Amino acid sequence: MEPFRVTILGSGSALPTKDNFHASQVLELRGRRYMIDCGEGTQIKMGQYKVNVSRLNNIFISHLHSDHCIGLAGLISTMAMLGRSEPLSIYAYKDLKNILLPTLDYFTDDDSFEVIFHDINPKKKEIVYEDKALTVSTIPLKHRVPTCGFLFEERQGERHLIKQMIEAFDIPIRELKAIKQGADFVDKDGFVVKNERLTTPADVPRRYAYISDTLYTESIIPQIEGVDCLFHEATFLEQDHRRAKETLHSTAIQAAQIAKKAKVKKLVIGHYSARYRQHKPFLDEARSVFENTVLAEDGLIFEL
Ligand SMILES: [Zn+2]
Ligand SMILES: [Zn+2]
Repeated sequence: MEPFRVTILGSGSALPTKDNFHASQVLELRGRRYMIDCGEGTQIKMGQYKVNVSRLNNIFISHLHSDHCIGLAGLISTMAMLGRSEPLSIYAYKDLKNILLPTLDYFTDDDSFEVIFHDINPKKKEIVYEDKALTVSTIPLKHRVPTCGFLFEERQGERHLIKQMIEAFDIPIRELKAIKQGADFVDKDGFVVKNERLTTPADVPRRYAYISDTLYTESIIPQIEGVDCLFHEATFLEQDHRRAKETLHSTAIQAAQIAKKAKVKKLVIGHYSARYRQHKPFLDEARSVFENTVLAEDGLIFEL
């Protein structure tokens, strides 16, 4: 199975600290990279954690609070300085292009690579991106500005060839593509070898859900049910649950309640308020509800 890797670049919230930068993550699957959110310092963290900017062609922005998007101008201007030529697509609420374009126009050369803005409607559940490796859908959230999470769903892969059987039936290479896609093999005498004798089933597609800033909301559960890994914001501890409600954020316990109700396999929490020096209490509170929880910290890498 090919790795489906997530690197946490920033695990902090509005006020970045030296250990917890603004929000950003990079997913890697089948040789492609996808960025989710791009707060201040994202490019610094990419360098620090050796996440290459090549093959990063798509960036998904959950909402237009600065801790989720203010790093774009810096990242894009660095890409231009490095001589990038491929276009870069950014998926975000429509206002982003009005905010970012004047900055990019001022600082980057006319012959720089193209930045393509794709407007998304954070209130609607829809597929906003697809390629050979995966699809990306929006998950509407409840926050102070239009906000959505993202569901990354791996596409069904091909069946696995059983090498000894392929050799035993002396199957030509040109037939292998169709066999990996489920075809039987028919030899020149019309003898049929059933696909099940030649292959084993494809890997089960993996799913990663990213829940950005939000008030506790069970409306997301049907979309994230049973995902391999759920990232859910946990800005506050239980002692500050009123503050969470006022600012339309979640607590660690609420993130864990969502994970439990949605029967996800693993929960990663982050987006901690800078008011807390220690993150262990976040883990303790979340694990009291959902055992398989880990803390996002800058530089955390995990695979699905
Ligand atoms: Zn935030
Ligand atoms: Zn926010």
